[in-house]
Amino acid sequence: MGGMFGVVSNQDCVDDLFYGTDYHSHLGTQRGGLAVSNDQGFKRHIHDITNSQFRSKFEDVLPRLHGNIGIGVISDYEDQPLLINSRHGAYAIVTVGKVDNLDELVQAALAKNGVHFSEMTGSEVNPTQLVAHLIDQRETFEEGIAHAQRKIYGSCSIMLLTDRGIYAARDRMGRTPLSIGRKNGSLAITLETCAFPTLGYEPERELGPGEIVFATHNEIEQLKPPGDKMQICSFMWVYYGYPASSYEGENVEAVRYRCGEKLAERDDVEVDMVAGIPDSGTAHAIGYSNYAHAPYRRPFVKYTPTWPRSFMPQDQNVRNLVANMKLIPINEIMDSGRVLFCEDSIVRGTQLQDIVKRVFDHGAAEVHMRPACPPLIHGCKFLNFSRSRSELDLAGRRAVHDIEGDNPENLDKYADPDSDEHAAMVEKIRDRLGLTSLRYQRLDDLVDAIGLPKEKLCTFCWDGCEPG
Ligand code: SF4
Repeated sequence: MGGMFGVVSNQDCVDDLFYGTDYHSHLGTQRGGLAVSNDQGFKRHIHDITNSQFRSKFEDVLPRLHGNIGIGVISDYEDQPLLINSRHGAYAIVTVGKVDNLDELVQAALAKNGVHFSEMTGSEVNPTQLVAHLIDQRETFEEGIAHAQRKIYGSCSIMLLTDRGIYAARDRMGRTPLSIGRKNGSLAITLETCAFPTLGYEPERELGPGEIVFATHNEIEQLKPPGDKMQICSFMWVYYGYPASSYEGENVEAVRYRCGEKLAERDDVEVDMVAGIPDSGTAHAIGYSNYAHAPYRRPFVKYTPTWPRSFMPQDQNVRNLVANMKLIPINEIMDSGRVLFCEDSIVRGTQLQDIVKRVFDHGAAEVHMRPACPPLIHGCKFLNFSRSRSELDLAGRRAVHDIEGDNPENLDKYADPDSDEHAAMVEKIRDRLGLTSLRYQRLDDLVDAIGLPKEKLCTFCWDGCEPG
């Protein structure tokens, strides 16, 4: 997915920029980048963070970086920030999201004389360069950003750094959040609000869907008001987001507790302990455990000192090995009988299958699983959520395929938690994972736990619903 942070200050902003960007490290695994503007122009650094943490890669750079305005990015895909010399003047740009119609927009651009793209990611045009190209087609940054928002299908939040300040634009449908914070003489814009407290920023407000602002160190000018439709990604609360962050006024940790409570409220299974698959299953499990008055235990702990979450090798076998190495079982706790795990979600289920086997190998009598969201049936078109190239990699969709073959007639019936088809799909997944029981969160309960109206939430990956 990726994350971004920007700061405009009346003094050097590099420390805030560095730490503020670092607080987005859980959102991307490929590239980290910083750009600042100072009286000598723009300075930009990009590093590969696939095998090491953002902070360790940038510590050497910091003493040479100075400026009062800067933007930073953790990117899950392409090199960023890009430095662009345009007819509007020089600027640096970062984006978060997914340009689902990238090929179509690139072909339309290339059909015009003189257009070329120099930045490539693999064999594809760098999506951030395409966004810059769309912006440059209009007379002003403001019009250009609005033009890009209209043209892009998928999602795209933008920060654009000039020598005067930062243009910040939240995705047209608000799939990803952006918030403004302020402290003496400085103004920051962030995807994750957990970046604010330790850096001393007071949250001021969130940008609405499609809203565009221009930030200087003492002023935020609204250039385009928010639209009236929002589809913020529900997965921000379930999995992506950091527990200390809030979006649309709803804190991630609190939503996860409520998810766990909702799961427990509908459950009737008797267990000896409740546990979370670390890290993002933990808060869901605490919510479940407190509601059900069942003891919360940690039969697995995560070894974080040398296995940061951002370490995500491309090879699936190596990834499975790393996932296995990270989770250390505690035998003394594990072998006490009936275990109920809460997990944020079941994407492919491959690693979960290994975990379930390990728990049984360590002497558990029963292993129950309670994912905090419904079965994933549709691939995400908006945020690069799953690396899977095929929807059939999704555990839910694969189960439907096992039941119906290549062309399922009606996926909606599988999304209905009260249908026989849904029950058959869940049973297939339970059987494949080797679980004693599997019960998913209902979508209506997830929506209640988040606390926003359903029509403001993107729920596409569960119910295929895509309001215009
Ligand atoms: S499809 Fe799922 S992961 Fe993608 S934006 Fe919507 S809720 Fe988020």
